[in-house]
Amino acid sequence: MTIDPGTLGGRLAAVRAAIGGACVLAGRDPAEVTLLPVSKTFDAQVVREAVGLGLRRFGENKVQEIQAKSAALADEALAWVVIGHLQTNKAKAVAAIASEVQSLDRLDLAVALDKALQTQGRGIDVLIQLKTSREETKFGLDPDALPAFLGQMSAFSSLRVRGLMTLAEASDDEAVVRGCFRTLYQWRNRCREAGFPLERLSMGMSGDFALAISEGSTEVRIGSAIFGTRTYKP
Ligand SMILES: *Cc1c(COP(=O)(O)O)cnc(C)c1O
Repeated sequence: MTIDPGTLGGRLAAVRAAIGGACVLAGRDPAEVTLLPVSKTFDAQVVREAVGLGLRRFGENKVQEIQAKSAALADEALAWVVIGHLQTNKAKAVAAIASEVQSLDRLDLAVALDKALQTQGRGIDVLIQLKTSREETKFGLDPDALPAFLGQMSAFSSLRVRGLMTLAEASDDEAVVRGCFRTLYQWRNRCREAGFPLERLSMGMSGDFALAISEGSTEVRIGSAIFGTRTYKP
């Protein structure tokens, strides 16, 4: 098979092949690693092309963008996954539209999401975002607060906690990036030992997914390697 990097289908095939290669290198079954395509900043037309290639689930970091794209693609049954920092006042909109939230990082957001979902009469899967890097600009729950936070989550019947999510530190030092992923993996195991049945580890992006897979990722969130370079509109 030749892979044409000039097309969406070509880049998607290349990413899938690279994920498969990383799994083989890590001695892991490729079926254990899910690809979450991240379509943020790309318009509905591009997402429609991706749908044509068989993708049905998309990561986005802005609720307004999900609203616009889901309206434009209302003829398709798609799942929208929130991966960006969420303000509590967006909980209602998220409850109305998202299939999953991977950026749950604090109690007041859990309270607001659960309340809005109860009103909608539905539940969603959530991942707890941990701050594993030293960068001040990154969001996420302090890992030390995780056990208590998980205990509190049992009060929210509309939120099904499935695992953890993180963004690695933006660093050229592979050991630093690997360390972030390893921290997430170790916390999941610790939580499992404490009786919380966490399965999923969402970690790894275009630049670092192979490392994340070698550290136990079960889901890689990939944007630019599939969709191309992002341009942010003001
Ligand atoms: C944008 C984004 C990604 C994808 O990043 P790429 O480097 O384009 O693959 C993954 N996770 C989160 C939380 C993001 O905001």
